[in-house]
Amino acid sequence: MTTYFDLHIHTEYSYDGVTSVRELLKIAVKKGIRVLGVTDHNTIEGGLKAYKLSKEGGYNLIVIPGIEVSTRYGHLIALNVFEEIRRKGSIFEIIEEIHKKGGISIAAHPFDIIMPFKNLNELSRYIDAIEYANALTINFKEHIRKAEEHLREYNNLGYSVGSDSHIPDTIGNVVGIYEEEVERIDDVIDVILSRKLSFSGKRTKLYHRIKKIFLTKLRVKRAVYPEAKRGLHRLF
Ligand SMILES: [Zn+2]
Ligand SMILES: [Zn+2]
Repeated sequence: MTTYFDLHIHTEYSYDGVTSVRELLKIAVKKGIRVLGVTDHNTIEGGLKAYKLSKEGGYNLIVIPGIEVSTRYGHLIALNVFEEIRRKGSIFEIIEEIHKKGGISIAAHPFDIIMPFKNLNELSRYIDAIEYANALTINFKEHIRKAEEHLREYNNLGYSVGSDSHIPDTIGNVVGIYEEEVERIDDVIDVILSRKLSFSGKRTKLYHRIKKIFLTKLRVKRAVYPEAKRGLHRLF
């Protein structure tokens, strides 16, 4: 049986996300997405809540808690971590911390024109994977082409794919496809690291990008998170 993955999703625990965890789980079931990587900006809270709720609610989902950490080089996803990842220290220390906590590190949207990952060649010896297709990249097709080139050169790297969704409408805009069933988080990590995913989907529509910005602005007004209060806006 085919399994569908969305490995880059934000919830309302991100300062710029509006999807509640409950909504996320319901939509995933409705859309037939079995594996979810919950990767809120700089917090593990949404990932942990989604993990817990999926178990308690008896959802037939595999939820992988994660964080999208803002680093000096770009956004670094820690997947399969159950504790916060500090943002202090060098990128090497952050990667090491992710590994110590049992996770893998993935360079998010590394070839995006707005928020690329700097020094990717140098860092490719230390990270575990790169994001291959991300629905929120403006240069969606070019990004995929560049990622393919990079993966040819650095065959130690695995790859992941995801919607980078911040609103309910865009969950599953890009999904990874695996032609077998997976049972555990470790199986998913293996699929990522051993390059077994194909994907389908396309770039997020302009309408949904605008909707995200609009809803984020409303959200910032009522948000309680320190980053949101300081009015930090990022595109992703
Ligand atoms: Zn993101
Ligand atoms: Zn990002």
